Amino acid sequence: MNSSVARTVGFIPGERNVFFHLLTGCNLSCKHCYINPSQHGTATLPLETVRAWLKCFSRPERETNLILLGGEPTMHPDLAEIIRSAKGMNYHVTVDSNGYLFHDLLERVSPRELDFLSFSLDGPEAAVNDPIRGHGVFATCTENLKKAVAKGFHTSLIYTVSGLNIDHLHRMPELVADWGVERFFIQVIGLRGKPAAGAPAPEMAWQVDPGHWLAVVPEVAARAAELGVAVTFPKVFLDSGEPFECAGLVAENFFIFPNGRVYQCPLCEDYPIHAFAMENDRLVRHAGLNEDRFFTLTIPEGCVMNKLLQPENIEYLDDGTPRHRISCCLLKQHIDPQ
Ligand code: SF4
Ligand code: SF4
Repeated sequence: MNSSVARTVGFIPGERNVFFHLLTGCNLSCKHCYINPSQHGTATLPLETVRAWLKCFSRPERETNLILLGGEPTMHPDLAEIIRSAKGMNYHVTVDSNGYLFHDLLERVSPRELDFLSFSLDGPEAAVNDPIRGHGVFATCTENLKKAVAKGFHTSLIYTVSGLNIDHLHRMPELVADWGVERFFIQVIGLRGKPAAGAPAPEMAWQVDPGHWLAVVPEVAARAAELGVAVTFPKVFLDSGEPFECAGLVAENFFIFPNGRVYQCPLCEDYPIHAFAMENDRLVRHAGLNEDRFFTLTIPEGCVMNKLLQPENIEYLDDGTPRHRISCCLLKQHIDPQ
C-alpha cells in the first residue's frame, strides 16, 4: 500500500482516553468556542480535586491518554503539578493550549514530563486566524509554539476546519513542517457551544459540505505527511461497505467537566444527558434517559447523535437513502510521516 494513503484508525480494544476540562475560563473568545458555561459551569477545579479525579480514572497497569483542556488549561495555576501527578499515575499527558502558555508553563515543566503540547491555530496567517480566534492570537501562538519546539517539547497543532478557513488549509503543511511540529490534527467544526447558535455572518456558513471537505482535507493531509508530519483527521463520511461503530459502545472515552459531568460522546456536551457524574470524587452513573441509551440505535445514516443534533449534515438521494453515512465523530484517519 502507498504509505501516504490514510488509514482509518479503528477503535482499539482497551484504549482509554480521558479528556479533562480543568476549568472553563479562557482569555480568548473564539467565534467557534464549544464551551458552554450554562452546561459546563464556570469553576476551576482545585488541585486536590483534580488529583482525586485523576486517580479515579487512572489504570496504572495500562496506559491511558490524558488530554488536559479548558477553557485555557494553562490558566490553571497548578497545571505543572497536575501534569507531574498525572505522569506519576502512568497517564500519557497532552495539554491542549490556545498558545498563550500562562504561568510560565515552559519553565515549570520539562519536555520529559509532558508527552505533547498542542497549539490551536485556525489559519496560516493572522488575517485568517485572528478574525476567528481574536486579535493578536496568531502572533502570540506561533511565537510560543516556536519557543516550545526550541526547548525540545513534542508539539502538535490543531486546525479546526469550518466554512471560514477551509480554503486556507492548503497553506498549513509547509508551515507546520517549518515550525517543527510533529503532529498535525485537522478537526471538523462541531455545532455545539457558540456555533450551535447560528452562522458567524449572514453570508458565511460554519459547516463545510461533504464535496468540499473530501476535495480539500485528504490532499492537505497527504502533503503534510510528505513533509514529515504525522497527520490525523476525522473520517466524517464512511465509504460504502465500511462498518459503522459508535465509540460509546466499543471504546473508553471520558469527557470530564469541572461541574462533575462526565460524557462519553462529545456531541452530547450541550445537553444534560451525560452518562456519568463525579460525586464525592467517585464516578457514578447519571440516572435517567442519557446519551448511552442512544448508542445502541441503528439507523441508515450512521451516527444517531449526528442525525438528531446536526441533521443538516446529511444529504439524501432521491430514493431517500443517505448519500453518505456519517461516522462516529471520534473515528480518525491517520497518515504516518513520510
Ligand atoms: S481558546 Fe478554546 S476555550 Fe478559549 S475561547 Fe477559544 S475555543 Fe473557547
Ligand atoms: S458521535 Fe455518534 S457514534 Fe460517536 S460516540 Fe457519539 S453517538 Fe456514538
